[in-house]
Amino acid sequence: MSRFWNRRVAALHPYIPGEQPNVADLLKLNTNELPYGPSPRALDAMRAACDDTLRLYPDPTAKHLCETIAKTYDVAPDCVFVGNGSDEVLAHAFRGLISDEAPMLFADVSYGFYPVYCGLFDQPYRTIPLNGRYEIDIEDYAGECGGIAIANPNANTGIALSLDSIARLARLQPDRTVIIDEAYVDFGAESAVGLTKEFNNLLVVQTLSKSRALAGLRVGYAIGHPDLIEGLTRVKDSFNSYPLSRIAQAGAAASIEDGAWLEQCTKAVKQTREELSRSLKELGFQVLPSCANFILVHHPRHEASNLSRQLRERSIIVRHLNTPRIQDWLRISIGTDAESARLIEALHDIRAN
Ligand SMILES: *Cc1c(COP(=O)(O)O)cnc(C)c1O
Repeated sequence: MSRFWNRRVAALHPYIPGEQPNVADLLKLNTNELPYGPSPRALDAMRAACDDTLRLYPDPTAKHLCETIAKTYDVAPDCVFVGNGSDEVLAHAFRGLISDEAPMLFADVSYGFYPVYCGLFDQPYRTIPLNGRYEIDIEDYAGECGGIAIANPNANTGIALSLDSIARLARLQPDRTVIIDEAYVDFGAESAVGLTKEFNNLLVVQTLSKSRALAGLRVGYAIGHPDLIEGLTRVKDSFNSYPLSRIAQAGAAASIEDGAWLEQCTKAVKQTREELSRSLKELGFQVLPSCANFILVHHPRHEASNLSRQLRERSIIVRHLNTPRIQDWLRISIGTDAESARLIEALHDIRAN
């Protein structure tokens, strides 16, 4: 606490990102990054963008990138908004497209940034408990609200909703923005992008940080009705007109165009996820059915905090999200098959001690 902090800053409860320690031989399974590198075409495009033109500001509308996204997802370019990571896109959506006349709704177990944005923007909110199987029940989101955010697949559980459920949700709240955060959608869920043509209240948010292996680049985007996109642009141009550098715009567009790379990487992750889930079940773990590049696991005889500490002693970090309802669970990012083998070996070792 500093006397220079104003009341707004003093009252904040910032998000705590997963650690990025600099330790040799570390197996990092805590922040859901891809174990494979980005598309080589994206890297080439970024190298090519490193030239004298960097003295110029980037295109504030990121026209080429928006058109590339529009083409890939078969929507009009004015249905696309891009930002500095989907975190920024989500922040603008919370800021500009949610009403503060009623509490916003999101699940009690979901992306930890949602309540943080509400705190930053003085947005009232209410969390809706997942059901006993750790799933979202759409009917729980029928009441009066200021808007809704759903991560699909859900953050920290990995469980996905069907497109029918999302359409039902959009119909339940025709006068409120429904944000579908699809950070993990490429790992096995169905994208709601197609539904944005039918429902003008649906905003789909995606990121290049997970399935496209570009967490270090900071690019995310939203797809929705042009009125929603215009609202986001108004917020952006009242905050930072140039959120994406020339390098980021070039790399992101090339990455989006490389569908084959995406397909290959996500296929490998899905295979490793199924293998790892099987191996962990053999060790007595309960594993939630994940459509993401992580799994949420629980062991009836081992405390999650202990397991996490013992893994850390073996230079393996997983995420122990010390939040209600999943305190006894560990979130493990999916790496390569070799990394899975190292994790399983460490778990055998821990049980033997
Ligand atoms: C990782 C993640 C994000 C943030 O992605 P960035 O584009 O890296 O900001 C957003 N939502 C969820 C659910 C995530 O897991």
